Amino acid sequence: QQQPPQSNNSSIATPDMASYWMPFTANRQFKENPRLLTQAEGMYYTDDRGQAVLDATAGLWCCNAGHGRKKISEAVSKQINQMDYAPSFQLGHPLAFELANKLTQLSPDGLDKVFFTNSGSESVDTALKMALCYHRANGQPSRTRFIGRELGYHGVGFGGISVGGIGNNRKTFSGQLLQGVDHLPHTLDIANNAFSKGLPKNGIEKAEVLEQLITLHGAENIAAVIVEPMSGSAGVILPPDGYLKRLREITQKHGILLIFDEVITGFGRLGAAFASEFWQVTPDIITTAKAINNGAIPMGAVFVSNTIHATCMQGPESMIEFFHGYTYSGHPVAAASALATLAIYQEEQLFERAKNLSQYFEDAVHSLKGLPNIIDIRNIGLVAGIQFAPSDKGAGKRGYEIFDHCFRNGTLVRATGDILALSPPLIVEKSQIDDMVNSLSDAILAVG
Ligand code: PLP
Repeated sequence: QQQPPQSNNSSIATPDMASYWMPFTANRQFKENPRLLTQAEGMYYTDDRGQAVLDATAGLWCCNAGHGRKKISEAVSKQINQMDYAPSFQLGHPLAFELANKLTQLSPDGLDKVFFTNSGSESVDTALKMALCYHRANGQPSRTRFIGRELGYHGVGFGGISVGGIGNNRKTFSGQLLQGVDHLPHTLDIANNAFSKGLPKNGIEKAEVLEQLITLHGAENIAAVIVEPMSGSAGVILPPDGYLKRLREITQKHGILLIFDEVITGFGRLGAAFASEFWQVTPDIITTAKAINNGAIPMGAVFVSNTIHATCMQGPESMIEFFHGYTYSGHPVAAASALATLAIYQEEQLFERAKNLSQYFEDAVHSLKGLPNIIDIRNIGLVAGIQFAPSDKGAGKRGYEIFDHCFRNGTLVRATGDILALSPPLIVEKSQIDDMVNSLSDAILAVG
């Protein structure tokens, strides 16, 4: 088992922070009191003070194989030396094809086509466009509406925030969101499901709202429903038992596509390659990014059903079938890093490992029950959310303070408002799970 890296007391000079406008960050607060990461190995980051920081978040749900994997860095280095970049429009390179084939060995049967992107947000935009492309090619051009879900997070493109359901991400831009989008109700129900382990028992009826929306708009006008099988960014919100199956039944009945956004759940987080495998519900499209290549180089992929793909392959063969793509789609260096990552997942059986650890993880996180202000703990696979009552200082303050306290004391957790999320790399050891929980417990008691 890896020991934490030695504190090396070699603190690094704080950089001039004037120019960098940081994403999803309270910039002024951060620059007053920064948290800087400088190295990463295995389960640990090192910060600018030379202190080890146990990574309870896999970076940002990315580094499922842990940090500093030589197989990945060597593949990157070899590829960048061999061919740094190749255009992806009307040209190809072998690795992108090889990667697409390897990926479809993991995806559900029937989702055997892959479109490459550079991020989760791009994967979502791509999936929404594919849905429109499919219905048009299928002779149903009136199917243009989308249905997302409250509290859903689908990245930050205009498509993603339109189908997404996090108020703060939408408000500023509300005048320019996509037209024709509705939202299902979210499935967080602390009153009825607090401290449930695994899937909450109550709430399957929330899927029935889809029937109401279909009655309201007409199935013939609806292109797709998009949901995260498990909402990560909004604070680990789980689907009630049977809920996803019900969404699948309703969408299928009405010829509406179902898109699972698996940017977080893809590549082993729940103890299976995809949440769709874990819950045995197969959508028409799956969006991914992050752990596809352990976060090493920006990359995403959209898995699409053979039917959708075949339907879109129409018209003269000399015509481009789908007017969509990115300069870096299937980037050779990103593709090399993904192939190396998939090899690690397989050689080390990391998805299986996550599955085997999930009971221990569940017991560990639920041992926090009873500490001050915790109003809910929820978990599935190797992901957990711990929700706190807001403090008198305002919503989100308590969550931030616990996160910051943990970081200053050497553990990285993720805060979303007053919810803390844990999603360790799948290489985590039991003793490191204990360390995470102990560190959280200390922080919770200190912050109050
Ligand atoms: N979709 C989901 C479910 C996500 O969790 C995220 C990011 O956390 C995204 C999309 C956006 O991904 P990116 O930040 O790579 O654009």
